[in-house]
Amino acid sequence: MSFKYLKAMPTPEEIKEQYPLRKDLAELKAKRDQKIADILTGKDDRFLVIIGPCSADNEDAVCEYVTRLCKVAEKVKEKIFVVPRIYTNKPRTTGEGYKGIASQPDPTQAPDMVEGLVAMRSMHIRAIEESHMTAADEMLYPENWGYVEDLLSYVAIGARSVEDQHHRLTVSGFDVASGMKNPTSGDFNVMLNSVYAAQHPHHFTFAGHEVKTTGNPLAHTILRGAVSKHGNATQNYHYEDLIRLHRMYDQMELINPACIIDTNHSNSGKDHTQQPRIVREILHNRKYSKEIHSLVKGVMIESYLIEGNQGITDHQVYGKSITDACLGWEESERLLYDIADRLAP
Ligand code: PEP
Ligand code: MN
Repeated sequence: MSFKYLKAMPTPEEIKEQYPLRKDLAELKAKRDQKIADILTGKDDRFLVIIGPCSADNEDAVCEYVTRLCKVAEKVKEKIFVVPRIYTNKPRTTGEGYKGIASQPDPTQAPDMVEGLVAMRSMHIRAIEESHMTAADEMLYPENWGYVEDLLSYVAIGARSVEDQHHRLTVSGFDVASGMKNPTSGDFNVMLNSVYAAQHPHHFTFAGHEVKTTGNPLAHTILRGAVSKHGNATQNYHYEDLIRLHRMYDQMELINPACIIDTNHSNSGKDHTQQPRIVREILHNRKYSKEIHSLVKGVMIESYLIEGNQGITDHQVYGKSITDACLGWEESERLLYDIADRLAP
């Protein structure tokens, strides 16, 4: 047999019992989930900003980040609803490299999936305790849902997973806002078909069970730019792209048309410093066009304590990304205030 079975994983029930979320925080999460739902369905006109590191590689640094973030979030709360980005699983283009805290609790050490589950859950819980904000994470491995479903307020399906049936069907059972990214090829049809699949009920096997889902009305799109056949980054946050997406939404039977724009990745051409400019363009287009205003519900920004990124060594800079380059804290803080100013009537 080519697989070597190392150990059995604990069940979601076992992990949740060992690392429970306080009841008051569970209530807080329910309220935050509802606010995000209200934004996506158009009942609340605030702008959603999902912001945080590309990978949440270090619990202390992530908790320091969200503690700073919640103070800013409080000041801009009339205009912006802030969701920290705490990504515990990283998709890799070639399968090589750091795969997130859920695989490697210590990036310099070998993978340990049980310790990883614990690290993932503990970090999310501590971040909620310290910031009173529930986070966004990518559901790279759909079967992990049971381990975090009581903690997350927003789920993303990444560009490399969005075409996959198991991901799509799993999202149809999530009871929180779930963003389906455009694939790396940039095809809007793939993304919208994914939203269609996620919004409808399904019957399949999940985590060792036969299951039925209800469909997720909060499944929506995330634009992250694309890579052309020549390997160049092509953006999809411009006016024409958004009008095109609005028209395509109109032609499909989808509920709650909504889009979040990821300002890094292929949209920034991996130049993280472009993110503030991209956000400003989006806000401008939102003012210019009522279609874009109603479609674009928010942005996703990669940001951490220290600007840029670094390789993995045994002398890491604390709070600096080990995957995609991020905005640093000061610039991120300025950007949040700037967004709030620009949203002012
Ligand atoms: C990410 O959000 O860091 C990421 C890997 O995104 P994408 O799936 O768009 O490449
Ligand atoms: Mn990234």
